[in-house]
Amino acid sequence: MKVLVINCGSSSLKYQVLDMDGENLLAKGLVERIGMDGSVITHTKIGSDDKWKNEVPMPTHKEAIEQVLNAIVDPEHGVLHDMSELGAVGHRVVHGGERYANSVLIDEKVLTHLDELSELAPLHNPANILGIRACQKLMPNTPMVAVFDTAFHQTMPAESYIYALPYEYYEKYGVRRYGFHGTSHKYVADRASKIMNVSLDDMKIITCHLGNGASVSAIKRGKCIDTSMGFTPLEGLVMGTRCGDIDPSITTYISEKENLSAEQMNEIMNKKSGVLGISGISSDFRDIEAAAEEGNERAQLTLKVFAHKVRAYIGAFIAEMNGLDALVFTAGVGENDIAMRDIICNDLGNLGIKLDLVKNKIRGREAIISRDDSPVTIMLIPTNEELMIARDTVDIVEKNR
Ligand code: ADP
Repeated sequence: MKVLVINCGSSSLKYQVLDMDGENLLAKGLVERIGMDGSVITHTKIGSDDKWKNEVPMPTHKEAIEQVLNAIVDPEHGVLHDMSELGAVGHRVVHGGERYANSVLIDEKVLTHLDELSELAPLHNPANILGIRACQKLMPNTPMVAVFDTAFHQTMPAESYIYALPYEYYEKYGVRRYGFHGTSHKYVADRASKIMNVSLDDMKIITCHLGNGASVSAIKRGKCIDTSMGFTPLEGLVMGTRCGDIDPSITTYISEKENLSAEQMNEIMNKKSGVLGISGISSDFRDIEAAAEEGNERAQLTLKVFAHKVRAYIGAFIAEMNGLDALVFTAGVGENDIAMRDIICNDLGNLGIKLDLVKNKIRGREAIISRDDSPVTIMLIPTNEELMIARDTVDIVEKNR
């Protein structure tokens, strides 16, 4: 079955076309500036050097999806003869709340639920819904599946997801830990089990998804038992621009001192904090590392603070699982940042984590990077959320036939 995977944001949209018979990627692309001047689609046919850019007005998501469909059936740049070759569309949806612990075939009832869940993910779910609606208009007979970022974390026990606030806030408003990046954590955990040739049922895994957004998960017997992101993606690790864990009373203290509204404070914690906030340089680790190498002390401190937090979560999750078999690094920083993996794993031998400094000199491909005598297998596994979405999509469509 050929599957179109859509990851729809408020003004941009990423897509991939996969042939799931051999799990081959056929094409991928990006639409930017939807609803603004200068809307543009960049389309790549895999296996050719061809990167096709097309600037066309795209006032709404419907025009954006139209351009995606045009690109994938284009006689020169496309990969399908016509749209009927497409068996299904898989949509990344950020928030599935407590209702969706698994991917689901989209119908009107599901869309109503997603709409209700927009309250919990106001920045993401509305855009995801726009993408789904636009696809439905253009492909009314093609089955669509929603794959949730939160779903994999729904196996967490209550002690991991309940906050120590009045319990009624959980009951009335659904205030609890949900966790995000679930598709990525699940994908790399599955790969770790395959690479080690050990059943997930017999493994304790910590997955570190370190990108612009970053989270760590504890996965025992294939099930997530804890994760660092919370009610929103703001909790947990220090991120590109998000602060991660802080003392909650800092928010009232700073808003009073700086005369900030709740919304402004939220913006600062989401957009102006993290490694950007500490370093004052950039949210990109490459810039911070370059500055650190030149002797910039704030940049050096930033890297240490980031690593400190990852190490603290690794320690906590080892305690929660009473052991660890595999430690996995993924996403932009996890896959590419040799120095950061080194700082994170440094001096953790008593926890069984022994990085091989030579094997660690690798970027962007699957590898075991621990020493032969390391009790914990440390791995670099590039994530592939789109493949995971496409797999779930095929699975759900076939089950519902
Ligand atoms: P997201 O999908 O959350 O936007 P990614 O997983 O693509 O993020 O990660 C992006 C981040 O990865 C960049 O901001 C950059 O900091 C980091 N990164 C990418 N390549 C490298 C590299 N070679 N060295 C260090 N950091 C890198």
